[in-house]
Amino acid sequence: MLSQDERERYDRQILIKGFGEEGQAKLKKAKVFIAGAGGLGSVTATYLAAAGVGVIRLVDHDNVELSNLNRQVLHWDEDMGKKKADSAAEKLKRLNPGLKVEAVKEKISQANISQLVAGFDLIVDAMDNLPTRYLMNKVAIEMKIPFFHGAVHGFEGRAMTIIPGETACLGCVYRGAIAEGKFPVLGVTPGVIGCIQVTEVIKYIVGIGQLLTNRLLVYDGLNMKFSEFKVKRDPNCEYCGHSRGKESR
Ligand SMILES: [Zn+2]
Repeated sequence: MLSQDERERYDRQILIKGFGEEGQAKLKKAKVFIAGAGGLGSVTATYLAAAGVGVIRLVDHDNVELSNLNRQVLHWDEDMGKKKADSAAEKLKRLNPGLKVEAVKEKISQANISQLVAGFDLIVDAMDNLPTRYLMNKVAIEMKIPFFHGAVHGFEGRAMTIIPGETACLGCVYRGAIAEGKFPVLGVTPGVIGCIQVTEVIKYIVGIGQLLTNRLLVYDGLNMKFSEFKVKRDPNCEYCGHSRGKESR
């Protein structure tokens, strides 16, 4: 049930066809795990908080640095040196006091990931490196937790939604590792991709629309083009393949 304040706060989205108070109540019950409080994490956490999800667990072990501020819009000049998870949680609570936000200042690893995501309804990929994405993809599939992928580089971004056991996963799409280290990002690129991820998360929770599954969406801001690549589940995928384990790799 929604309170009168909640009815008023979420009035415009409750008006959306297929959404209604039932949709809002589903958002209120939802527990969302966000991996990373950087560019994508700032945008996804902000819009999910504003939309009225019940619980956000935001995981990031880094501190706010000056070079983050062109894109990580939850962190401001005054926050430099603070833990990103704390800086983000503080703003999110001010944005929506009804939100329960948990700031976890740990580095996501093989050792803690299963425990960190346990009990959560979905995982938002707001990371900046492929090894951690692969790790989260693996755990999402093992634990059957939907996984909302997003990635940015310069003017470009990508997004895909993964429903474990049903749709193609990151391993079906990407092969091998991509070069690590410092890479360029225009501030608005995570804005675009983060908003696409949140749109997917809200649709998934409310149960409306068609998800970005078995399709990789590629955004090219420099030429302002969106392209879509059809993706199939790979039977030999090391994470979700049907024949996994039957043969040696
Ligand atoms: Zn796969």
